[in-house]
Amino acid sequence: MAAWIGLMCAGSLAAASKNLEIYWIDAEGGASTLIVSPSGESMLVDTANRTPDDRDAKRIFAAAQQAGLKKIDILLTTHFHSDHIGGMEALSKLIPIGMYMDHGPSVELARPQVAAAYKAYEELSAGKRRILKAGDRIPLKGVDVDVIMSAGEAITKPLKGAGAPNAACADFKEHGPEQDPDNDQSVGLLLQFGKFRFIDMGDLTWNYEQKLVCPSNLIGQVELYQITHHGLNRSSSPQFVWAIQPKVMVMNDGPRKGGTADVFDVLRHSPGLEDIWQVHLALGTPKEINTPEDMIANLGQSRDCKGDGIMVSVDPAGRYTVTNQRNGFHKTYESR
Ligand SMILES: [Zn+2]
Repeated sequence: MAAWIGLMCAGSLAAASKNLEIYWIDAEGGASTLIVSPSGESMLVDTANRTPDDRDAKRIFAAAQQAGLKKIDILLTTHFHSDHIGGMEALSKLIPIGMYMDHGPSVELARPQVAAAYKAYEELSAGKRRILKAGDRIPLKGVDVDVIMSAGEAITKPLKGAGAPNAACADFKEHGPEQDPDNDQSVGLLLQFGKFRFIDMGDLTWNYEQKLVCPSNLIGQVELYQITHHGLNRSSSPQFVWAIQPKVMVMNDGPRKGGTADVFDVLRHSPGLEDIWQVHLALGTPKEINTPEDMIANLGQSRDCKGDGIMVSVDPAGRYTVTNQRNGFHKTYESR
C-alpha cells in the first residue's frame, strides 16, 4: 500500500508531536480508527475485516508504524460484527495489544459466524478485558474519552455544557426494528482534547441514536463526526446529526457501502457543517452528490484500491488539519 507520505509532509508523526492524531484506515467499508494521544498512548477503535491476505490488519499495522507506535495500548471493539472485529487476530500477531474493551457479550451468538468471532475474541482478550458501561471514562493519557453509549444504554446525565432541549425530536420518525441487533450494542465514545471534540458511535442505528439527543441533547456540539455506520441510511437521523452540529465529518464508507443520496441530504442540512471527507467515492451515488474529489481518499473499485486513508492532526489550541493520504490535499479548521 501507499506510504503516508502526504501525512508526513503535514508534519504529523505522533512520536515527534504534541498533537492528537486520528487515522481512518481504508477497510473498503469496514471500520478501523486509530487514535494517538499527544502523550503517545494509543487506542484503536475496531479492526475492520478479515480477508485471506490479512489486508486490513496489514493496513492498520502500517498506520501504527507511521504513527511511531510499538504497541496498541487499548483495542476498543464497538461491536462484534465481521467488519469491526475481522482483522483482530491477524493484527495481534503484528503488534502487541495492551487492553481490550467492548460492550459485553454479543447479542447475536445464535449466528455461527458471530459466535466463532466472539469466542476468538474471548480467548485473545482473556485477563486483559474491560467491559464498558455508559458513563465510564476510558484511561487514555492526554485526552478525555467518555463512553456515552454501550450495550444499548445511553448516559443519563448530559456531558458538561450539554443538555439543551432538542426541538427536532417532535418530527422524529421511528425506523423498523434493526435486523442485526449487535449494531445497537455499539460502544459510542466522545473524545475531548482542549476545545476539539470527536464522536465515534460505531454502527448505532437510528432509533437508538435518539436516546442521546431526545428529548434533550446530552452530548452538545462536536467538531468532528465519524459518520455513523459507514454512512448507511440506517443511522444518522436528522435529530442526531443536527443536534451535535459537527463542523467536519468523515465517512468510512466503501465503494458500494454507505454514502447514499438520502444520507448526504441529512448531513448537508446540518447547521455549521463545513466539509465532509470520504474514505471512498460512493460509486452508486452521483458524483456531484459525493464530496469534491480532493477530499475522497479512494476513487475506484476495491480490486484496484491502494488503501489510502484520511487523517487529522489536532494541536493543543484546537486547530486541526485533515489530510487525504491519496493526494496530500489538506485543510485546516479552528475548533469552536
Ligand atoms: Zn460496520
